[in-house]
Amino acid sequence: QVPVPSDIEIAKSQTPKPVKDIATELGLYDSEYDLYGEHKAKINLSVLDRLKNYKNGKYVLVAGITPTPLGEGKSTTVVGLVQALAAHLNKKAIACVRQPSQGPTFGVKGGAAGGGYSQIIPMEEFNLHLTGDIHAVAAANNLLAAAIDTRIFHENTQNDNALFKRLTTVKGNKREFAPVMLKRLAKLGINKTNPLDLTPEEITKFARLDIDPETITWRRVVDTNDRFLRLVTIGQNDTEKGMTRKTSYDIAVASEVMAILALTTSLKDMRERLGRIVVAQSKSGEPITCDDLGVGGALTVLMKEAIKPNLMQTLEGTPVLVHAGPFANIAHGNSSILADQIALKLVGTRTDKENNDEEEGYVVTEAGFGADIGMEKFFNIKCRNSGLIPNAVVIVATVRAIKLHGGAPPVSAGQPLPDVYNTENLDFVQKGMCNVVRHIQNAKSYGVKVVLAINKFTTDTDAEIELVRKIALEAGCDDVALTNNWAEGGKGAVDLANAVIKACEGENTNFKFLYDLDTSIVEKIETIAKKTYGAGAVELSDEAKAKIERYTKLGYDKLPVCMAKTHLSFTASPEIKGAPSGFTLPIRDVRASVGAGFIYPVVGTMQTMPGLPTRPCYYDIDIDTETAEIQGLF
Ligand code: ADP
Repeated sequence: QVPVPSDIEIAKSQTPKPVKDIATELGLYDSEYDLYGEHKAKINLSVLDRLKNYKNGKYVLVAGITPTPLGEGKSTTVVGLVQALAAHLNKKAIACVRQPSQGPTFGVKGGAAGGGYSQIIPMEEFNLHLTGDIHAVAAANNLLAAAIDTRIFHENTQNDNALFKRLTTVKGNKREFAPVMLKRLAKLGINKTNPLDLTPEEITKFARLDIDPETITWRRVVDTNDRFLRLVTIGQNDTEKGMTRKTSYDIAVASEVMAILALTTSLKDMRERLGRIVVAQSKSGEPITCDDLGVGGALTVLMKEAIKPNLMQTLEGTPVLVHAGPFANIAHGNSSILADQIALKLVGTRTDKENNDEEEGYVVTEAGFGADIGMEKFFNIKCRNSGLIPNAVVIVATVRAIKLHGGAPPVSAGQPLPDVYNTENLDFVQKGMCNVVRHIQNAKSYGVKVVLAINKFTTDTDAEIELVRKIALEAGCDDVALTNNWAEGGKGAVDLANAVIKACEGENTNFKFLYDLDTSIVEKIETIAKKTYGAGAVELSDEAKAKIERYTKLGYDKLPVCMAKTHLSFTASPEIKGAPSGFTLPIRDVRASVGAGFIYPVVGTMQTMPGLPTRPCYYDIDIDTETAEIQGLF
């Protein structure tokens, strides 16, 4: 249809298939999923066991060039690509995407269901609440936060014996340790199960975590862009007896619990990771974990449904798994390993039949924001955890973002685009290709095939598109495809799908990581900064240096590194476009996510709680009170 209607109008004009039908088409047994209404289901992890002998299908990553604040259509391309593969080329294909956070939905960027005729539906349910996984993450995160401050309070207000008594459980007229506390006893080397047998020294050791409030790194979270929570003082009521403390809120999708959801490989693994989370240190410098606080089991219980990937569909009725939602700038930016693993088996082939002529299918997964952050973390954190290696990478570019990198005036959400974006300008395109070329070369350095997808806007001219194609191929890109799936649906991404099929031929034996885990934290940060961003040097603040020293002593230096950096530039400054080199990358702070399993440097002025713009998306959002239909989501 011309002109293309709004995203929500298109999404609503299509009646989704019952999700049960999608599950059946995927070969799922009825017992392998739970329905959440008619259009969403959660897939049980038991399917992984049933399909364990299947050979995985092909694994395709979609990443992007450094975007404008408007987004360059990565989600739209992911959806278009699976629509083309499944609905137009008759292949098995599943898209794996993240669940959107409320932050951007009501802030600047809008929803994340894709756009035009390549969307995930029902888009309202996709963009809001879904099956409550982000709420579960926030609930688990905040239970741990409450456990920390309450424990300090109780330790400060009771003597050792009273504290010890209350930390044990009364059963009938006997006292015993809660099972979760046996872990702590073992950690302390106290080999006793009867509380009455502990010596006074052991009672003190057990009862007092002795948390140093200055070292608490665990923050509360909320899934709203609420900048006024960046620094708060808690405990101000008289009942907390003056035990006030300055702390911070992060957005829920930046929580380590969200990272754990995205990186975990089983319920058992999730329980262990949640228990391992380090929240603070004791006054004598010992790390204090979630299990020391006795809350690891409860967190896992809160996350027990969230661990199951959500099944939805595209506008063309093809399957999508939606699972986990870390941002790529302030978190590791990739959907869950479990969803990818399940999808790879569901499109995979049996290995227990002779002469199997079944064709393997495709899993298309998305890495957030530009490839400098989303793809780098996909490879070095997600693939390292899962052991999966992608067969091909698609890099999405738009002429508008390329022009911005070539020196065209800034673009902001909610403002009309300056004229150069609506008329041919080969000079800006030529100059801006430096950004695309660096992302292509970065992707190639991992030893994978790279396809550039040019996401076509109606204002792009043939000459501009040809120039992009030519420079990309000269830079070593394996293939270039023009996509028009925003306007046409899957049909508009058939060329891209064919390019991807070709790029996935054969096995990938050339894959390599960017850095070895054995190198020091500083070396890892420097490798990412220099090799991926083009920096000449890294500058560590005193705080960052002290934390690195402490984390190295504690043995966390063998973890991979997850940079929190702006998505709008290769540098720490959002306004610097193109592909600069030789700059200094400032590291303000370094945190450790021991449960998720990464070191988390914070670059420049990056905030882990975003703010709302002057003119937020929520101005457009309302409801028809007669029909309860949502309006204004995009
Ligand atoms: P990303 O995943 O890169 O952030 P999205 O796929 O979410 O980007 O797209 C961002 C916005 O741009 C969406 O509102 C989408 O409808 C719109 N969009 C994407 N591709 C096109 C296109 N080719 N023409 C016009 N609008 C587009």
